[in-house]
Amino acid sequence: MSERVDLLVHGGDVLTVDDAGTLVREGAVAVRDGTIVEVGGAGELRARYAADTAVDAGGCLVLPGLVNAHTHLAMTLLRGRADDVTLQGFLERVLRWEAELLSPGTVGAAVRVAVAESVRAGVTSALDMYWFHEAAERVAREAGWRLLTGPTFMDVPDSPDGRAYGERMAWARRDLAGRTGAREGIRPVLFAHSAYTLAPEQLTEIAALAREFGALLHLHAAENATEVATVEVRYGKRPVELLDSLGLLGPDVLLAHAVDLTGREIAALARTGTSVAHCPVSNLKLGCGIAPVPRLLGAGVTVALGTDGAVSSNTLDVLGAVRQAALVHKADGDPTAVGAEQAARMATAEGARALGLGDRLGSLEAGKRADLIVLELGRPHLRPRHDVWSTLAYAAQSADVRDTVVDGRVLMRNRVLTTLDEEAALADLEALAPSPVQPGGRP
Ligand SMILES: [Zn+2]
Repeated sequence: MSERVDLLVHGGDVLTVDDAGTLVREGAVAVRDGTIVEVGGAGELRARYAADTAVDAGGCLVLPGLVNAHTHLAMTLLRGRADDVTLQGFLERVLRWEAELLSPGTVGAAVRVAVAESVRAGVTSALDMYWFHEAAERVAREAGWRLLTGPTFMDVPDSPDGRAYGERMAWARRDLAGRTGAREGIRPVLFAHSAYTLAPEQLTEIAALAREFGALLHLHAAENATEVATVEVRYGKRPVELLDSLGLLGPDVLLAHAVDLTGREIAALARTGTSVAHCPVSNLKLGCGIAPVPRLLGAGVTVALGTDGAVSSNTLDVLGAVRQAALVHKADGDPTAVGAEQAARMATAEGARALGLGDRLGSLEAGKRADLIVLELGRPHLRPRHDVWSTLAYAAQSADVRDTVVDGRVLMRNRVLTTLDEEAALADLEALAPSPVQPGGRP
């Protein structure tokens, strides 16, 4: 007598990304109520379980869904509008456009396209720092996608949501207090933009609020030398040094970028259990530099991967970030720096760990949430397949993702999105997107 499950993904090689890096050849994953019930051999699991939905993954690779640990999803609205500029030039333009363009409606439309792009790219969860997070959350919920977001603090004169800085603490407290009974595999988050857009006392009160509610605190830090110099001139300390001196680093803190770090700052991150979201594509494109990831890993810091927003990295392609992470650190002459497996883990198990959700997400193991993807391996660029980590990090492309499952629900099957009207989402965004580039110039 077979046991009922909601979903059985069977026949493909299952790369579990558990601690041992177990690969189950011709394996299967059984899912009930959004939770992985069992991972094992396909023959065995087919005999044991009767599934409402069966996905034949024969000839494919099944792996945990990818985690985007730092992004600004709604920036799809501005994709391609601020290329080949410095971080500071980028911020100056983007902040102006955001003040003009953003509303819950534009954010919702832009996030819908971002979710479609992400599901297609095998990304099953993201940490999203942006204005009007409620609109993003609504869209993600409708699509069945895993979004971690919450109130953002940034002390700028024309905040796009029209909320003065003074009102934000009470608003954020209400938001966190209302998050009872949240979906499994989601946790509350507070976003403090950075040490150059918030004063030390503001950072301190935001961190205290995050700690009061057990929320993850996410900040940009040490993205480039100019940022570090700005903070140093104002407060006499470099950004990570400042956060450490204020007692704001810790295991519930995730820093985006962490490019410009001293050895002492790396040691502080390790000592406090602070994690880093590495965004190699954004860092390269904005000319920020290359984060000292081999040194961070050597010190024992948890390193996740992020794409950053679609203006600074132009796509939300986490697999592309895996490849970049596995390549860019070799530029100094050491081809052993950040190997294929390490890079792929940053986008899965380590990404989940950095979000404080390592026990719920990031690997395919019984008891964890069923966030998984099926990668088709039939195309020439993936053959022959000698090493599965190598295939993932150096050869696979996000377009190879065939099926995407979040919380046991199939959001993309055979490359068709099942919970999102992609055409309508694109049409809505096109209708809202700023005027097209004039021939011979930028808008
Ligand atoms: Zn960012």
